[in-house]
Amino acid sequence: MSDIVYSSTNLKAPKVSFGEALLKGLAPDGGLYMPEKIPQLSTAEIRAFSNMDYHEIAAKVLSQYLHDAIPDEKLAEMTKAAYNFAVPLEQVYDKKYILRLDQGPTASFKDFAARMMGQLMQYFLDKKNKNLLILTATSGDTGSAMANAFYGLHHINVCVLFPETEVTERQRKQMTTLHDNIQILALDGKFDDCQALVKDAFNDADLNYLNLSSANSINIGRLLPQSVYYFWAYSRLCNIEKNDEIVFSVPSGNFGDLMGGLIAKKMGLPVKKFVVATNANDEVPVYFATGNYKTIVPSKACVSSAMNVGHPSNMARIVALYGGEMNPQGEILELPNLDKMKDDMFAVSVDDETTRKTIKRVYERHKVLLEPHGAVGWEGLRKFMNQDSKTAAEQQACACLETAHPAKFPEEIQHVLGIDPELPPSLSKLDYKEEKYDKIGTDYKGFKKYLTNRYK
Ligand SMILES: *Cc1c(COP(=O)(O)O)cnc(C)c1O
Repeated sequence: MSDIVYSSTNLKAPKVSFGEALLKGLAPDGGLYMPEKIPQLSTAEIRAFSNMDYHEIAAKVLSQYLHDAIPDEKLAEMTKAAYNFAVPLEQVYDKKYILRLDQGPTASFKDFAARMMGQLMQYFLDKKNKNLLILTATSGDTGSAMANAFYGLHHINVCVLFPETEVTERQRKQMTTLHDNIQILALDGKFDDCQALVKDAFNDADLNYLNLSSANSINIGRLLPQSVYYFWAYSRLCNIEKNDEIVFSVPSGNFGDLMGGLIAKKMGLPVKKFVVATNANDEVPVYFATGNYKTIVPSKACVSSAMNVGHPSNMARIVALYGGEMNPQGEILELPNLDKMKDDMFAVSVDDETTRKTIKRVYERHKVLLEPHGAVGWEGLRKFMNQDSKTAAEQQACACLETAHPAKFPEEIQHVLGIDPELPPSLSKLDYKEEKYDKIGTDYKGFKKYLTNRYK
């Protein structure tokens, strides 16, 4: 087995190793790193997953990319440290399941990527004896997952920007009660404004001394761990020797979660279809329907707030995976194979009213509690089943990803169902902790001044 190299989706940056792509985040040409070759898992290897724990599957999947850089025993220790919580599959009816990715320390699926990336960065920074400032924009959950995953680590500072009015109180508290190496900034603007400031900082040579890294969903170190739970769900619901295929529904914003699934499929996982479910930010469903990709500026504010993204940052990777090229502005320079994309994916947009109705219906009919993001996913799956009777059939395995815990959206759940979702232990302690954060505007100069004062 030979080393896998990582190249930029903009095709104008030198190819790098995994460790370099991990610590850089964004490629110097503004593109996103992608493995040049997707390693393959054999039928026997995938079959063996059915007898393995989650962290063991994670070690096996990730070692396909990392075996030259990290000894397998070390990698196994790292996945065991990162994945010390349950990953339940909750039955709704027949073989239709909710894959609950909400049992980590911040009760968000972003824990899966963030905790593993923390382990990986720590490993490579220790080896180089270097420091790093992680700068990231969040629409709610990324930031808290990053802050919690990196809290207390050596060599790493974290600075998170969030749109002040677009995150819930609980999401905010998950970031602002940590302190120490974690700095939180509330922005008087939208998520896209936060992303724009972060991008400007990355392109500013004056800030090179900070050794900036994005821990956003664009980082390759987040992307690869997000392919593991697709293998996990398959290993619990399907048998590869019987040629079983699975359908996944993925509530999507920046499309990092979906991208993890597409990589799993490329590695050999038998996925029949990915339902790509968005909220009213429907640029990708529109693209699939019309062949025209148009960003939504500004993005629309929906109840599934972590998916309020008008131009998914992983879109360039998806286009690259299907043989095309997209620049950071969202212009398609070379057409991807759209027919193949539509073969693999069914894209659908779900509005807020339907999202709320779905939470109510699923709870009343099936006694399964969803929050807004998972409800977008479930409704997307239902729409797909309505037009594909084979997927609706009793024996077809389907897993809809639930990306956050309902207790993270107490106002919404109370409003729709009239109940208070029970808090997981990780969230119940927040109310007693002190909050600390600074406020800034959308102007880059002010942000730069803040950074240079804070980090000398
Ligand atoms: C981030 C997030 C999403 C969207 O994931 P992407 O990888 O950006 O598509 C969905 N649901 C929740 C709760 C999230 O935090």
